[in-house]
Amino acid sequence: MRMTEPPDEREGLPSASNWRRYELCAGSWQLEGEAKQLGQSAHETSPAARRGELIHSYLAGEVDEDGTEIKLDDSEQQTADFLQERATDQVHRIFGDEATLELAEKRLWLTVNGQRLASGRFDRCVYTPSVALVQDFKTGWAEPDPAEQNSQMKVLAVLVALHLPRTMRKVVIQVISGPFGVSEAIYDYPALAKAYDDVLATLRALQDPMAPLSPSPEACRYCPAINVCQAVKSLAPAMREVEALPDGELGAELLDSVEILQKRLDSIREHYARRLTADPAYDLPGYAMVPGAIRREIKSEHWEAVRQRLAEWLDLSEIEAASNYRLMDLERALGKKLKIRGKELKERMNAILQGLVEEKPNAASLKRISKPKLVTLELP
Ligand code: SF4
Repeated sequence: MRMTEPPDEREGLPSASNWRRYELCAGSWQLEGEAKQLGQSAHETSPAARRGELIHSYLAGEVDEDGTEIKLDDSEQQTADFLQERATDQVHRIFGDEATLELAEKRLWLTVNGQRLASGRFDRCVYTPSVALVQDFKTGWAEPDPAEQNSQMKVLAVLVALHLPRTMRKVVIQVISGPFGVSEAIYDYPALAKAYDDVLATLRALQDPMAPLSPSPEACRYCPAINVCQAVKSLAPAMREVEALPDGELGAELLDSVEILQKRLDSIREHYARRLTADPAYDLPGYAMVPGAIRREIKSEHWEAVRQRLAEWLDLSEIEAASNYRLMDLERALGKKLKIRGKELKERMNAILQGLVEEKPNAASLKRISKPKLVTLELP
């Protein structure tokens, strides 16, 4: 959920960000509605998604719920700065000194005969009366679909073309990712007309009451309906029938089933972890959310003080060799020098750097906290 929009911003209608899944599995849109009604939606949020939301809100200049400026940690800030720099370079490359207008984080609607059918929200749109540049920021580590094949961006190109001035000649779309750089596609009139037809065809397929369910690793990966999907459940008996592991095509199909079922298993764990986190009274005998290990980190503003304190024990070159001042690297160097290890080393390091190290617990995780009871089966 973005910080300044209500959670139902999509009004229960198909959204551009899910378009690739809709194209691959037309039945998934209706099933995601059923999963929601049953309180069984999967992948509602994740640490990576929350990080992405925060960076997007920062880049759009939004404020948090209290009206204060959004604060990012070092890693989030690095990602945001990188994306911002690439985006600005691209604006200069495409528009030069031309005067432009800009919109950020705006949801546009596809309306046919006065009825809203679908929507999409772009990260940034820079435009003149004749050219629009739509930029999408990817904050994760997975390789995004390149702009030329990106279904979400195809929908956004259509929506932008429908909403911006009639003098618009072309829509340039860009997918900007930290690890994978910038990919670009250009939609002129013929490409926009074809994309519009594609979008309407997908919408018709979604609305068909008999829309088929078509499981595949790509479609099911983030599908909110995976917990209630019969097509995914039916993959398990197919696996049970395998007597010896097959080669070739059948082997590849088996691996696809394993990947999809693994997602289903993960989403079962996520479901119960969410229930236990949201409601401390929720009872799941033998299971609990167990706090993660404590991480120790040096904040960047303390690096100089860390350098000074450790200078008594380590040479500057040994300190510098600890790339990015990771505490583990510095601790290893100190242990080597003082010939101590384990608990003793950790305590010594903590004493030297007292006040400069921040302790953060890793996220709690769902764990069995009591052993399962042994059940004796009575044979007839
Ligand atoms: S889990 Fe897979 S097969 Fe089932 S609805 Fe979602 S995308 Fe389709």
